[in-house]
Amino acid sequence: MSDGITYSAGVQRYVDKAQRLMEEQEAYRREMRTMKFDTIAVHGLYSVQEALSRNQGAVIEPLFLSASEGYHDADELEAALAYLVPGWVYSRIHNPTVHYLEATLALMDGYGCDCETSALATSSGLAAIFMATDPFLVRRSPGERPNFVSAAQCYGGTFQQFSVRRMGEQQIEVHWVVNSHDTDEWAAMIDGNTRFLYGEMPSNPGQAAFDIAAVAELAHSHSIPLLVDATVATPALMRPLEHGADIVIHSSTKSMTMSGYGIGGALISRKNLTTNIDNAQMAEDFAVYCKQLPFRDYGPCISPVNAAFTLAEIKTLRSKMAMVSRNTQTVAEFLETHPMVERVDYLGLPNHPLHRLAKRYMKLVDSDEHLFGHLMSFNVRGGTQATRDVFDRFRRIFLATDLGRIKSVATIPAISTHQQQGEEGREMAGIPPNQIRLCVGGEHPNDVIADLDQALNSVR
Ligand SMILES: *Cc1c(COP(=O)(O)O)cnc(C)c1O
Repeated sequence: MSDGITYSAGVQRYVDKAQRLMEEQEAYRREMRTMKFDTIAVHGLYSVQEALSRNQGAVIEPLFLSASEGYHDADELEAALAYLVPGWVYSRIHNPTVHYLEATLALMDGYGCDCETSALATSSGLAAIFMATDPFLVRRSPGERPNFVSAAQCYGGTFQQFSVRRMGEQQIEVHWVVNSHDTDEWAAMIDGNTRFLYGEMPSNPGQAAFDIAAVAELAHSHSIPLLVDATVATPALMRPLEHGADIVIHSSTKSMTMSGYGIGGALISRKNLTTNIDNAQMAEDFAVYCKQLPFRDYGPCISPVNAAFTLAEIKTLRSKMAMVSRNTQTVAEFLETHPMVERVDYLGLPNHPLHRLAKRYMKLVDSDEHLFGHLMSFNVRGGTQATRDVFDRFRRIFLATDLGRIKSVATIPAISTHQQQGEEGREMAGIPPNQIRLCVGGEHPNDVIADLDQALNSVR
């Protein structure tokens, strides 16, 4: 940001002083890059040194609620506002607690990847999707008609953002890919005005999956990036950057913050990503570019409170994802055998058509155990009313449009998350009215099974 501007000797002194600190932090980051996933999740960039020298020794990252940062003098103020020194200025732009969260997320999603990464935390998952896509959709001339290609099987809110806001209000075409596991279908949707490819893996609720490496290669052959929403998998089970994706998106509201105390989102980008937008700063470090410019101007920042909750929870993400994934596998295997169940969709079931594809990408990090998360769905035999009746009989499973919780939660997507997109949209996304989406929590799986069994048997 300092290109062509000369700063006074006073400002330069602050910059030089900050240089040493930045070098120390960079050395620590490099050291952390060599650690195992759990170590990274627990510590992030919050070193003992960082605690003692800048945070009064606090063992856990402090929650900074102050809206703004103060300075010693005009020189330091100028240096900070020009982003020349690592400060945080104002909590809409940055905040120390948010910084510790972003640094940890960048390391977690960059784990095992030979690229460098950076992260931007946002107020929600949908804000992260907005922020990750908007910079690619700018019109460089008035007549330009940018478009993008997206898997049709995606979160209902994402579908609304793309179809109502982008297509309906802004005349930005979305080319929907219906069978996202078919890489040729992606290829057929790309034209000279395509700015990026977008997919959810696995998808909520339909468990769609696509070949990340093949679709990333396809995107790059057209000089455009691949964006992947990996909310359902979390970095504990899958890290798309490692397979060639350019930007990963999370709703940290979900499994990342399993206890359910907060709304948040994040995007994690690889440095030097592929794009056909002529903006060197954006390509070089997308997350930092967003943070310093468009994100600053639009303002979808995460509250430091939510950042602290998220930070506390991701420290144990790997073990929690292992527990709930194993529980879900047990529950899915039970449902498959139940006479009132017409169909079970869970990528962990060996007879699921996309099981082998998912297995290539989903594995508990730092282990050889293939695990598939805690989102599944099943279709009830007997139609719409029987489905509602079963649903109403759940005793401990909460009826809520939520997922990723430590408590089991179920919803009927056709009347909740996917209500607004209409019958045609639901058909395209494969959402029948007798589908129940179930996200299995941390209860003992036998107790979840008992609850499901009594509800299903009530309509036999
Ligand atoms: C919930 C969800 C979102 C949106 O996240 P919010 O935090 O609710 O804004 C995006 N993608 C997926 C896959 C989701 O499940």
